[in-house]
Amino acid sequence: MVENLRCGFFPGRPVIHSLSLEAAGGEIIGLVGPNGSGKSTLLRCLTNWLPATSGKILIDGREVGAMPSRDRARAIGMLVQNPEHPVPMPVREFISLGYFSRRGWFGGESPLDRDAVDRTMQRFGLDLKAGVNCRVDQLSGGEFQRVRLAQIHLQDPSILLLDEPTSFLDWPFQSMLIRFVREKARQEKRLVVMAIHDLNIAMALCDRVLMLRDGSVLADGPPKDVLREDLLQKVFGHPPAIHTISHFPGRFFSTPGLAEGEGS
Ligand code: ADP
Ligand code: MG
Repeated sequence: MVENLRCGFFPGRPVIHSLSLEAAGGEIIGLVGPNGSGKSTLLRCLTNWLPATSGKILIDGREVGAMPSRDRARAIGMLVQNPEHPVPMPVREFISLGYFSRRGWFGGESPLDRDAVDRTMQRFGLDLKAGVNCRVDQLSGGEFQRVRLAQIHLQDPSILLLDEPTSFLDWPFQSMLIRFVREKARQEKRLVVMAIHDLNIAMALCDRVLMLRDGSVLADGPPKDVLREDLLQKVFGHPPAIHTISHFPGRFFSTPGLAEGEGS
């Protein structure tokens, strides 16, 4: 539960203004809004990486800022949008950090731990041999994104905060990401909050969309009520190109101007 949250980078200049939110396990919530509207800042604040200036963030009644790091690792996992240049660590070791942030090291890796890491690497299309020999700072953007998703999967937090999770991924891996998010929410009853630019993913995958503008929530509800032409025009200052496609839930969006003569 988030209550009257305010946070920012400089005193007296909040990026997020008085935001409140109730969410439950099993929900997929999309944060939609223009560049600079505060999506990444909100996600960072929810993990307490950026401490709130005022307000409360409670998970099962406990203040996030007061949780010991092991408890926080069990509660929240975060995929950041612009990862700092990673430490030159072997891929497998980096992924295993997710596992041990949750369980503790207890004197090393058991065969069971190794098996869990192997299976996760395979699931995210990561080569087991290369995982030992290759370092994370030598990976492509998409490969590193999958490594970070594998790490979060092993961390197995009850809340997943994903900042633009499809960025860098080719479409087969985007589709894997969509299945991953559904599985986390539908089967494992995790709460997923993700910042997403792709309105089609927001429309088809999310149960609920929060539309942000200048650090405030302008609309909050089911995707088909929030991703409306008038609201999108108001928030983005530009009309979206909207289509109806059979079998696709709600509206289908394309980038205005992509089809010549459309929305230009
Ligand atoms: P979004 O993710 O919605 O594109 P951000 O949350 O990254 O937006 O940014 C919201 C606002 O906060 C922007 O005005 C941005 O300039 C500012 N901001 C983001 N990161 C920093 C930072 N590290 N230091 C200072 N200001 C920042
Ligand atoms: Mg962002």
